[in-house]
Amino acid sequence: MNSFDEELTRRLAALHAQGLHRELRRVDSPPGTRIRIDDRALLNFSSNDYLGLANDPILKEAATQAVEKFGAGSGASRLICGSLAPHHDLEEALAYFKGAEAALSFSTGYATAIGTICALLGKDDVIVLDKLVHACIVDAARLSGAKIRVFAHNDLDDLEKILKWTEKNIQHPTPINREQESNIQHRKRTLIVTESVFSMDGDAAPLREIVALKEKHGAWLMVDEAHATGLYGKNRRGLAEESGVSERIEIQMGTLGKAVGASGGYICGSRPLIDFLVNRARSFIFSTAPVPAAAAAATAGVRFIQSPAGETRRKFLWTRVEQCGTGILPVSDLSNDPANAAKSQSKSKIGDRLEACPTLSAIIPVLIGDESKAVAASAVLREQGIFVPAIRYPTVARGKARLRVTLTATHTTEEINLLVATLNEIVNRKS
Ligand SMILES: *Cc1c(COP(=O)(O)O)cnc(C)c1O
Repeated sequence: MNSFDEELTRRLAALHAQGLHRELRRVDSPPGTRIRIDDRALLNFSSNDYLGLANDPILKEAATQAVEKFGAGSGASRLICGSLAPHHDLEEALAYFKGAEAALSFSTGYATAIGTICALLGKDDVIVLDKLVHACIVDAARLSGAKIRVFAHNDLDDLEKILKWTEKNIQHPTPINREQESNIQHRKRTLIVTESVFSMDGDAAPLREIVALKEKHGAWLMVDEAHATGLYGKNRRGLAEESGVSERIEIQMGTLGKAVGASGGYICGSRPLIDFLVNRARSFIFSTAPVPAAAAAATAGVRFIQSPAGETRRKFLWTRVEQCGTGILPVSDLSNDPANAAKSQSKSKIGDRLEACPTLSAIIPVLIGDESKAVAASAVLREQGIFVPAIRYPTVARGKARLRVTLTATHTTEEINLLVATLNEIVNRKS
């Protein structure tokens, strides 16, 4: 072995020792509640395909037709000759769905965050992040060069403290006399970024209060609805709609790879925002346009969500979440975190936890703490034919490893019962 490979082998061994090693599992089936992994049929509780659209005939048909009409590849970036009709149809459908003036689609949610945040902010600006935002937002913040300030998860007091600081230190000293004005590209800005429903905890941001704070302190707000699009609000636009604040959020972001059932990411907002991103978002400009099949499937997914069938799927999902919530699960035994153990002593069932949560979510984290224990619990579940992944650092903080259960509209009552029974059995066996 040469020294390069030796070095990497040492680093991999270190990951193994910490319970942080990861590997790919080959799936030999379409996405769904039953999947084939390593030649075994498993009941799947790990997918973000919350409405069960990824393998829906309507989306598959839309993708197939787009391949027939527009080909397998898109040939170039959007600004060269890759801006195909299916991309424009998707953006019209997205703007209509979200009730926004305009929309722009990207190849992934990750690319959406990177392109948008880096286009809007530079080194003189400040970006204020919830402690638990997704890695793509953290990476975007770093890449933008803006000053990064982090507030404790969903902590409005902490957020306001930071906003007061930015107001004092960042915005007011901007020189405004005629001569200097022409030299400055823009005023120094503060952008707050949060998720609406958090990806690894399933809890919701207090959007109404955050909107009020950003208006009070003259900041901008970007909300990532990755786990809320299609699931909340009268028109299923997301948690911003349910909270009645859609129109007051400058930048609404989401992904097309979760409840929408396809692949890609989007920004919805004003016409100037979208035009600006077309000119300035580097992950949009310098990347080949998504394949026509992806755009067409996403359009079909967005339309499905808006249809009565979309509302039926959402109702099914909340029924499953409630059913799972009534199962008995003493999470306190699993937790290494004393604060959490204390909390869960009084609320020992998932059901109680859900009641304590004002917003239902399809993401149910079962906190375990220790990385290796989480991996072991996931392995035991797999033995029993149930796939629930162990989520570890760096996806969540060290010592906060968990089983992340996700429910979808297409799970059956029997499947949920089996999950709850098996989880309970494993928890009791371990404690
Ligand atoms: C999944 C996810 C993304 C990234 O979206 P992709 O389309 O998978 O790249 C962004 N933000 C959050 C909160 C996510 O959960």
